[in-house]
Amino acid sequence: MQSQQQSGQPHIFQNQVVVFSKNYLPLARINLKRAIVLLVTGQAESLGFGSTQQWEVRSPSVVLQIPEHIRLTSGNPERHWKAPPVNRREVFRRDNHTCQYCGSTKHLTLDHVIPRSKGGTHTWDNVVAACQRCNSGKSDRLLHETGMVLRTKPKAPIHPAFASQFPKGVNAFAEQFWKEQQPVDT
Ligand SMILES: [Zn+2]
Repeated sequence: MQSQQQSGQPHIFQNQVVVFSKNYLPLARINLKRAIVLLVTGQAESLGFGSTQQWEVRSPSVVLQIPEHIRLTSGNPERHWKAPPVNRREVFRRDNHTCQYCGSTKHLTLDHVIPRSKGGTHTWDNVVAACQRCNSGKSDRLLHETGMVLRTKPKAPIHPAFASQFPKGVNAFAEQFWKEQQPVDT
């Protein structure tokens, strides 16, 4: 057991905790605050595993031991998470402020892939960022009538706890994690 830190020091919240899936696959590093939320809401449990560093977090009514590793108790972390509303800000953020047809980053609008006039819904899988030119060029036609192609298939953004942690994907994170666990040869 290594040294414990007391809360009251704000920087304790900058410590990071590794989240494992229910199947013990290391998923991502998240900050201590998010780990606490997962633990106190029962979405995750402590995982006694190798290193036993813990952080002690005190509130007036409770003392929490936050371990370095936690494991999700649910098979599907996104089940507990509601996707953000479909609006300009969230869609532009998901689409990286880029027109999903031509890649332009200027004069962005929201486009319904299947136009609303043809029964298209205002949902994550039917709304994309599109520049004004593409949007008005497409008008209220269906994609196959225009020859335009989507750069990526639109879908709801993934859990924010993990989104920023997956620049290289889950497998890359797992690989790197296990590498770090190995003793260093000199
Ligand atoms: Zn465009």
